[in-house]
Amino acid sequence: MNAVRTRIAPSPTGVDLHIGNAYTALINYVFAKKHNGQFIVRIEDTDRTRFVEGSEKRILASLAWLGIPYDEGPFHQSERLDIYKKCAEELVEKGHAYYCYCTQERLAQMRKDQEARHEPPMYDGTCKNLKSKKDGPHVIRLNVPETGVTKFTDVIRGEISFENKLIDDQVILKSDGYPTYHLGVVVDDHLMNISHVIRGEEWISSTPKHVLLYQFFGWELPIYAHMPLLRNPDKSKLSKRKNPVWSSFYREQGFLPEAIVNYLATLAWAHPEGKEVFTIEEMMKVFDLTQIQTTAPVFDVDKLRWMNGEYIRKDSDLGKKIFEFYSHIYPISQITPILPLVRERMHTLAEFATLAGFFFERPHEFERPKSAELVQFVKSALTNCDWNHDVMEKAIRDAAEKEGIKARDVFMELRVAVTGKTVGPPLLESLEILGRDETHKRLSGVAYA
Ligand code: GLU
Repeated sequence: MNAVRTRIAPSPTGVDLHIGNAYTALINYVFAKKHNGQFIVRIEDTDRTRFVEGSEKRILASLAWLGIPYDEGPFHQSERLDIYKKCAEELVEKGHAYYCYCTQERLAQMRKDQEARHEPPMYDGTCKNLKSKKDGPHVIRLNVPETGVTKFTDVIRGEISFENKLIDDQVILKSDGYPTYHLGVVVDDHLMNISHVIRGEEWISSTPKHVLLYQFFGWELPIYAHMPLLRNPDKSKLSKRKNPVWSSFYREQGFLPEAIVNYLATLAWAHPEGKEVFTIEEMMKVFDLTQIQTTAPVFDVDKLRWMNGEYIRKDSDLGKKIFEFYSHIYPISQITPILPLVRERMHTLAEFATLAGFFFERPHEFERPKSAELVQFVKSALTNCDWNHDVMEKAIRDAAEKEGIKARDVFMELRVAVTGKTVGPPLLESLEILGRDETHKRLSGVAYA
């Protein structure tokens, strides 16, 4: 195989790195590294109307956070306009592209008429045979042959072919001098020596236009692999209405990048040994692009939560991660002793506050009404006992038995009074950490509130 060079080419038109793009990035990166190749980032910023300020910065930050480093880039298409213009003009000279002077109004009318006739929207070729160049605003269009077929081989899907008569004379250079996606992507993939174009299946229908461009330029085709699109659990296309789609959301919710990457890896590909939990380095050793499934994988946040829990359980640096996740508001010296009580129950870093917030802040709200009597009871049961969970447990059970009260009710009352909640980490171990003074303060405050 020639030197392997892969890329992702995100457009800075969204909030951040879309989780589907994170998925494609992972596959491109792993494939390149498996073959000792390079992974490149190119920012396709030619659509000025959809440009979102700050998007690129967040895309790159998300890639770094996920642990997907790139070898070259980021390159920017907006800095390469003269290259695309030269290439487009070269195609005009060879007769593979032409100037088009049609106005927006004319094109709108044409589309309306086509719709009325139930025809597919396609440029009608008005400017195709113009003999000479005119003055005034113009675009450059691809001169697609009217007959024949355009084919390519996809390593995941096999041969795909399109009839040329169904391929539009696509605009390749806009009147503002910017290339469209089709020209930009082909010119750059060629000039950047991209060997494998691995991208989402939504680009399959664009690929024949790209193949024609390669043929017109006389360039060698890259190897294509179109990945299946991620779906919501109801099989609809992953969209922000049903599922959070931006990487930053998962970061803010306290998902660990290793877990996200591991989960993404399992979506359309299976580890040959059937493993579910593995590192990106392990994946690199055994990954095989041709084994990607074409059936649409479901991106299931519950499954991701499970995977994240697996990573949280074995994380030797969890205390520090929690410390940083909460911008240092919880002191690390206080986080460390709590970890054994909550680690098994946590699925995300954000759940630390839900489970352990009461260690740092007295509860203001209580999940159910308290009984002043029971609170007073447990407070006196705990008054003189050693501050050790076994001793406390015995003291409470003995006192409850003596009074003929159910120990279970007493423990629940104690839990609600001290933590505000009906469920949480092991209670008496928690009180051990919270300390006698603080526990008594909470019981007093609550009892007389
Ligand atoms: N700019 C395209 C995107 O936004 C790139 C598609 C491709 O990889 O060719 O995803």
